[in-house]
Amino acid sequence: MAKDNLTAVLHGIHDLRLEQTEIEEPGDGEVLIKMGCVGICGSDIHYLVHGKIGDFVVTKPMIIGHEASGTICKIGKKVKNLKVGDRVAIEPGTPCRLCDFCKKGNYNLCEDMVFCATPPYDGNLRRYYKHAADFCFKLPDHMSLEEGALLEPLSVGVHACKRGNIGIGSNVLILGAGPIGLVTLLAAKAMGAQTVIVTDLRQDRLDHAKKLGADKTLCLDPKSTEKENVEKIHKLADTKPDVTIDACGFESSVRLAIYATKTGGTAVIVGMGMPDEIKVPLMNALCREIDIRGVFRYVNDYSDALELVSKKGINVKSIITHRYKLEETLQAFETSRTNKDAIKVMITCD
Ligand SMILES: [Zn+2]
Ligand SMILES: [Zn+2]
Repeated sequence: MAKDNLTAVLHGIHDLRLEQTEIEEPGDGEVLIKMGCVGICGSDIHYLVHGKIGDFVVTKPMIIGHEASGTICKIGKKVKNLKVGDRVAIEPGTPCRLCDFCKKGNYNLCEDMVFCATPPYDGNLRRYYKHAADFCFKLPDHMSLEEGALLEPLSVGVHACKRGNIGIGSNVLILGAGPIGLVTLLAAKAMGAQTVIVTDLRQDRLDHAKKLGADKTLCLDPKSTEKENVEKIHKLADTKPDVTIDACGFESSVRLAIYATKTGGTAVIVGMGMPDEIKVPLMNALCREIDIRGVFRYVNDYSDALELVSKKGINVKSIITHRYKLEETLQAFETSRTNKDAIKVMITCD
């Protein structure tokens, strides 16, 4: 039985094509999903434009997409947690489940992770896709498939906040009001942060952050010195930030994260756009006992992200700026890549 399985395949740099692929049969512990929504991520654009991210290189055609949700249309023999018709958010990485990292609960660090649209593994921007049932999270009726897809970036924000021990009373500084900065803001507020200050170079992005609950915002002048920026942040904050989350990933923002954080505090680096080696004020961090912490995707954060949307009602869908159909995938990527107003571009697959 031939069925439409339109799929977005990246063949090489600036060579994204829509073509038919085979619908896969789910294994015992897997489910077949009729895809609902897939968001475009900065990493997808990076593979489109550069063909690689660090050591991950696209060497053969790869299906793109990893921020996804859908409806279960077939289940494997051993699947107990889901049934046909369930709407789910798809956590895109399936770890080996056997190694030390997996056994100790840090499966995001698993060396044998199979992660959607990270070479050599295919992603899920297609009509039908099979996935491990235990990495699918059932959505309550009042949550949309768009919100389900947005649990992916939101989980990054939740994980970043956990890495910074953000809780009731935390004073937080977020550098960058792009998609990850905004979801981190939403997570920080929902997790109890007392004040969240967001900085960016663009006022329109900061206006968006303000609408999403930023207590204060600061538009940084690219001509200002580092020292001036730190002074401006400290002047704006009633208390210096306990935690700074860098959602930009530039040398300048990592440096600012260290300098701006209160002595004894934590600098969490989420953005990873920088080269392998950068110059940071390490002595300053060491003498003031600033903990510098990395964030690699998320681990056991999907269910928490789901709770934040379903029970705390956080408005994650407000980061969507553009919507397209699967048939318009090329246009959707063009918008995400070139339109300065695009924050999150969402593709609907059915
Ligand atoms: Zn992503
Ligand atoms: Zn493992």
